[in-house]
Amino acid sequence: MALRKEIAILGAGPAAIATACALRRLGHEVLLIGVPRNTAVEGVSQRTLGLLREHGLAAAADSVGGPGERVGSWGGIDVAGNSEYVVQRAEFDRALLADAAAMGVRICAERVVRYERLGALWRVHTKRNYVDCRVAVDARGRRAQRSPRRGPALIAVCQRLCTPRTGRVFTRLEAIAQGWCWLAADGRGMSWLQITSGREPSLRLGLDEHLRRLVATAPQVAADLSGAIATGAPIARAATPSLCTRPDEPGLIRAGDAAIALDPLSGQGMYEALRSVVAVTGAVRGYLSGYWDPIAKFMAERTAELWQQSSLKAAHHYGQEAQKNPSPFWSEAAARYRAIQPAPPIPGGARIDWRPVLNSARIELRRVVVTPQFPRGVWQVDAVDLPKLLDFLHAARTTDVACAARRFGCPPAAAAHAMQWLSDHGLLEPAGPAGGTGPHGSPADRLD
Ligand SMILES: Cc1cc2nc3c(=O)[nH]c(=O)nc-3n(C[C@H](O)[C@H](O)[C@H](O)COP(=O)(O)OP(=O)(O)OC[C@H]3O[C@@H](n4cnc5c(N)ncnc54)[C@H](O)[C@@H]3O)c2cc1C
Repeated sequence: MALRKEIAILGAGPAAIATACALRRLGHEVLLIGVPRNTAVEGVSQRTLGLLREHGLAAAADSVGGPGERVGSWGGIDVAGNSEYVVQRAEFDRALLADAAAMGVRICAERVVRYERLGALWRVHTKRNYVDCRVAVDARGRRAQRSPRRGPALIAVCQRLCTPRTGRVFTRLEAIAQGWCWLAADGRGMSWLQITSGREPSLRLGLDEHLRRLVATAPQVAADLSGAIATGAPIARAATPSLCTRPDEPGLIRAGDAAIALDPLSGQGMYEALRSVVAVTGAVRGYLSGYWDPIAKFMAERTAELWQQSSLKAAHHYGQEAQKNPSPFWSEAAARYRAIQPAPPIPGGARIDWRPVLNSARIELRRVVVTPQFPRGVWQVDAVDLPKLLDFLHAARTTDVACAARRFGCPPAAAAHAMQWLSDHGLLEPAGPAGGTGPHGSPADRLD
């Protein structure tokens, strides 16, 4: 059966379902085409849980266990003191689908085989059907990436285990020469061991033997697992961090891991997948309103920025461990991350430029203030439009807060905050003690 839809979302993980629900809330008809896959256990922070609730994914949030105590060490420093929630992905992904259904998202539980562009539409093929849509959001996870740029090659081997019911929920992080171990215990008799490494020779001996050999080098994890019994077979998960470099095409938008898959060491994969939903939703709505080029630019710059920031952090974390443990794994992974160059800084100081921005759940082109610190531009502070404020202050030759607040219909505190921001970035002279009016040095030579 062929269908015609405005928006099709491909995938059934957090990025797909949070995007589908956000678009439903904004009044769009959405068809989700996806099959749940994940059987793993993962850890999330309190702020990820907060994002799930913000997106209205209550069943998914309720399925999360914990919080548990986070223990272990990194680069010789104790990481205890934080907490981490334990996510059984099979249960969590089922709850996500329940949230989508409750939100009125239409679900087609089929595997996407391929999609293609047909004129102004995208045709998404499943084994039995196809769907024509104006917008396709590809949220099928890291395996959907095309032409990725990669960080260090990583593989995670995982094993579910039966352990005593201690009532203690905890996660443990322990570095070893070949990589790092993450152990999660739900206190109800389930533990999950994950060992992330490079392509170790021991992998050729089978996953069981590989795990056995590496656990033997992790004394704390081995102690936690004393007496544990493996349940089911171990699984291997591709864990290489990667950035999809194939540009989005008109009406095709990538979300979550399909756009950028982070190093699992960050523990931020789910958080970033959920955080991307606002941008993805804005891209869908912007495209439906007739824009494309600014959207493609916004999405590409957003993921490139996240790739650089996360690589910088990873270089730091891997470098910390490499200092204490200078094995080839740590030294090479740290070097690989260091080789990911940050974008060259924007020459000169702050200036006004046109950039795509997210405005009321829609991406559109706006005048923004670009600075070396904010290369993608800032267009509002406290809901005050910065370029318009600057235009007004120059034209009126004033730095009077009350006057600006009247002109922009905002509280004086918001006008003062926006003016302070312009002043901090060298676009405005600081106001005198009384705010004052009168001539002030024009930064017009900084403006385009
Ligand atoms: C080893 C490892 C450990 C990790 N640990 C953590 C952690 O502790 N904390 C954390 O926050 N993140 C962790 N992550 C990252 C986290 O899994 C992802 O970042 C997050 O799930 C991304 O969500 P997503 O919706 O983009 O993709 P996914 O969760 O991968 O969802 C993709 C969905 O698309 C479906 N799908 C795939 N192909 C098709 C198809 N052809 N047709 C239809 N549907 C399809 C899949 O079945 C799945 O439902 C880890 C990742 C790895 C590899």
